[in-house]
Amino acid sequence: MSVLIVGSIALDDIKTPVEEHPNLLGGSASYGAVAASYFSPVNLVGIVGEDFPKEHIELLRGRRIDLEGLQIVPGKTFRWSGEYLWDMNTRETRSVALNVFEHFTPTLPASYKATPFILLANIAPDLQHHVLDQVAKPRFVIADTMDLWINIAKDSLLRLIGRVDMLILNDGEARQLTGETNLVKAAKAILALGPKYVAIKKGEHGCLLFGAQGDFFSCPAFPLEDIHDPTGAGDTFAGGLAGVLARESDDGPVGFEALRRAVVFGTVLASFNVEAFSLERLKTVDAAQIEERILLLQRMSRFEAI
Ligand code: AMP
Repeated sequence: MSVLIVGSIALDDIKTPVEEHPNLLGGSASYGAVAASYFSPVNLVGIVGEDFPKEHIELLRGRRIDLEGLQIVPGKTFRWSGEYLWDMNTRETRSVALNVFEHFTPTLPASYKATPFILLANIAPDLQHHVLDQVAKPRFVIADTMDLWINIAKDSLLRLIGRVDMLILNDGEARQLTGETNLVKAAKAILALGPKYVAIKKGEHGCLLFGAQGDFFSCPAFPLEDIHDPTGAGDTFAGGLAGVLARESDDGPVGFEALRRAVVFGTVLASFNVEAFSLERLKTVDAAQIEERILLLQRMSRFEAI
C-alpha cells in the first residue's frame, strides 16, 4: 500500500560546530518521502521554485516516489538555515524564507485521493487540514509538527490533532503543547485530544510510544559515535514509520504491535540519516544495513525476565 506525504521541500544552509554547508536538499517531505520509499510507494505533495536543482528532482523520481503532486512554480524554493550548538542537539533557526510556500495551496491529483496511509509531515497545520480535507477515508493518518506551530497556530494544530490517528512530536514540543513537564502526563493529555497513538521523540534518548488503550513502548536510539548533521532525523523517523506501516498492514485496523515495529524501523533509518549532511547517507542505505541495525538494536535492548 502507498503513503501520501505532504510537507516542506527546502534548500537548507546548515552549520554545526565543525562544518558548514549551504544549499542542501532539505525539508520535512524530502526526508519523509525518501525514508518511506524504502518500504512502500510514496505520493508526494509539495512545492518548489524554478531554482530547485534538477538533480534533487531526479533523486526523488529515481525512487518509488510519485511526483504528480509536486508543484514547480515561478519563484524561489523555501529556504531554511539552522545552526547546531556544541551538544549537536540544541538547534537555533538562523533564517527562514517562505518564498513559494507563501502562496501554496496543496491540491491533490485525483490519483492520490484514495491513498490509504497519510503522513502530514511538518508544515503549517492549515495546510495539513487542507490535504486531509481532500482524501477519501484514509486507513491511518499520522501528523508531525514543530514548536513554531504550537507558538503561532495552536488552535489549528489542536483541531488537527483531533482528526488524526497518530501524532509525532519531540519531548520539548509535548511539554510546550500540554503544559505538563512529565512526559507520561503530556502523552495522556495529547491522547485526550483524540489520536489513538502518540510518539514522543527524545533525540539521542530514543522514543516513547503511547496508545489510548494504555499500551506503552520505549524504543532506545541507536548509539552512534559520529553524528554529522541531525537535520531531518525526525522527518526520517516519521517517513520510515509510515512506510513500514503501509508495507506491513493487512486489512484490519493498525494495532500496537505493528506500530512498535514501525517505530523501530523509523529509529534505525533516522540513525543513518544523521551520519551525513542532507540526505547523503539516507539515500545510500540498503536493506541489509537496515536489518543489521535492527538486529543490533534488538540485542542491546533485550533482557531476561527475573
Ligand atoms: P527536523 O530536523 O526533523 O526538525 O527537520 C528539519 C527540516 O525541516 C529542514 O530540512 C527544514 O527545511 C525543515 N523546516 C524548518 N522549518 C520549517 C517550517 N517552518 N516548516 C516546514 N519545514 C521546516
